[in-house]
Amino acid sequence: MRVITSNARILALLGNPIDHSLSPVIQNAALRETGMDGIYVSLRCEEQYLMQFMHSLVRSGGGGNITIPHKEKAVSLLDEYSEAVERTGACNTFWGIDGKIYGDNTDVEGFRRALRYFLGESPKGLKVLLVGAGGAARAVLVALLDDGVEDVLILNRSTERAQAVVRLIGGERVRVAESYLDIRDNNFDLVVNATSLGIGLEDKLPVDLSKMASVGLVMDLVCRTGTTPFVKSAEDLGIRAMDGREMLIQQGSVAFERWWKKPGPVEIMRCSLVDTVTNK
Ligand code: NDP
Repeated sequence: MRVITSNARILALLGNPIDHSLSPVIQNAALRETGMDGIYVSLRCEEQYLMQFMHSLVRSGGGGNITIPHKEKAVSLLDEYSEAVERTGACNTFWGIDGKIYGDNTDVEGFRRALRYFLGESPKGLKVLLVGAGGAARAVLVALLDDGVEDVLILNRSTERAQAVVRLIGGERVRVAESYLDIRDNNFDLVVNATSLGIGLEDKLPVDLSKMASVGLVMDLVCRTGTTPFVKSAEDLGIRAMDGREMLIQQGSVAFERWWKKPGPVEIMRCSLVDTVTNK
């Protein structure tokens, strides 16, 4: 039986909204499996309280994750940060060492590992359409460029935000689509949805895959208990697609390692999500 002592470390997901998050499921399953003395909870948090929450958690020996919409704000509250934070301008994982707050963006490595799991090989040479330009899209872009994709076209509702991403991370292999017309009749090896479209039941699709000449594979970063609308739209067209659960597991496994200095139990985390879906 799992015992949580009075010394248990509290790890918290800070964001708003947080109701849809499956992080508590995978992290508590990992804590049960490894016998670590900790507990993982979701805390709805407004931006003006983010600093107090992070400081309190770290001072009491804990840490946590940051989600929508605080990943960029969190960077300004860190004392030390990883290269992934520096390159993406976003932080999704924090912990404390000697009173200082350390941060990482495990979405970069999480996406990289999930994509490899999906492809079964490196994405080197792929032509990619990346939809979205928020914190998650920046992590995806860094991982894709590091892994040698041929080029990335970014499409976002706000073109200025996409251009800002190119200025921050950019390089010769990245371009911004000015409108949805730019992607019509194009060929893409991989389409990634890094927008939040699909979290809400009434959301429209991020892009209409049927308007493109060909699409090899689809990755949707959205996670929910069941198929996402974008994954379904791909599968209806005969395109192999994967939702955000594998990335959630992989980024969570890297975060677990930051907090506990031992690898997160990926298979246990995967099983915990399967149980959640089948119990719904
Ligand atoms: P941000 O808030 O930083 O970015 C949201 C993105 O969605 C922006 O590109 C925004 O466009 C776009 N968007 C939102 N609403 C609409 C709309 N109505 N029409 C068109 N575009 C819209 O969020 P994140 O980047 O942090 O997260 C994006 C998604 O990725 C979320 O669903 C999140 O849950 C998921 N995610 C999944 C992870 C996983 O492990 N599976 C990890 C991290 C994120 P604009 O710039 O124009 O506002």
